[in-house]
Amino acid sequence: MRIDEIVDGLTHQESIHMLPSEVDEGDVWDHLRKVHDEDYLDFLEESSKESGVHRPIPDPTWSAPGVKADTAVWAGSAAAARSAAGAALSAARLVTHGTDIAYALCRPPGHHAGRRSMGGYCYLNNAAVAVSCLRADETRTVGVLDIDFHFGNGTAAIVADDDGVWLESLHASTIESFPWRASNPINARHRHHEFAQAPSPSTYLGELDDALQNLLVHCDAIVVSLGYDIVWGDPHGHWSLPPLIFRDIGARLATTGLPVCVIQEGGYARRQLAGCASSFATGITLPVTSGATLP
Ligand SMILES: [Zn+2]
Repeated sequence: MRIDEIVDGLTHQESIHMLPSEVDEGDVWDHLRKVHDEDYLDFLEESSKESGVHRPIPDPTWSAPGVKADTAVWAGSAAAARSAAGAALSAARLVTHGTDIAYALCRPPGHHAGRRSMGGYCYLNNAAVAVSCLRADETRTVGVLDIDFHFGNGTAAIVADDDGVWLESLHASTIESFPWRASNPINARHRHHEFAQAPSPSTYLGELDDALQNLLVHCDAIVVSLGYDIVWGDPHGHWSLPPLIFRDIGARLATTGLPVCVIQEGGYARRQLAGCASSFATGITLPVTSGATLP
């Protein structure tokens, strides 16, 4: 499975400890109700129970406005999505308790899921759950850095109303890839770094530096929507960045000195995943000279 490959890569670093997700199911529901509409959550639960042997059909009722329905609810989809949201909440809690870096191995991913929409394999928005946890007492400002190949349309829509959240998204053309429509920043706190063509490593890292500089100005913590679908060979991406770029990405995150909560999004080139995760772990665990303490 994809997650096994990622675990293999991450645990090459001795300093990385694997922990079970430890959250109360009621707490997960509390945060899910903050980031999703009640009738959407009900639909997901009920249709997940009803799905049987027949191939379910994507329902346009629960697709983001203007986005073609592409994600169906299977038996077990709701439980799997809730489990992923629980992992995100567990990781965010670690950060609120003073952990510098926590990485949630979420499956399925979540950044395309909106308040009342699914899409792009996403049902519940794990990154938004992490933000909800970090913003619970509203004293901490949060930056969302979405570096999946695809634009996280769901996350952007969910966090837009919170004036304590900034968002920087590096992504491929949203017309030539999901969500298959023009996507502009929702407000002045959101910035898009959209690449019309496959970027070189230096071009990509230059935009990442710009994104992180802006988050450093405004934010006390960073939630990273981490997609490994930016590397060569990914069946859903079409860039040619090397897996080693994640070492540079991780190192840049570490040197911000801000606490980081990583949420696993996409990445579908199975043979690349361990290399991507290993590179990221190497970069982000490099010794840094400063650390941040959360209020
Ligand atoms: Zn993606």
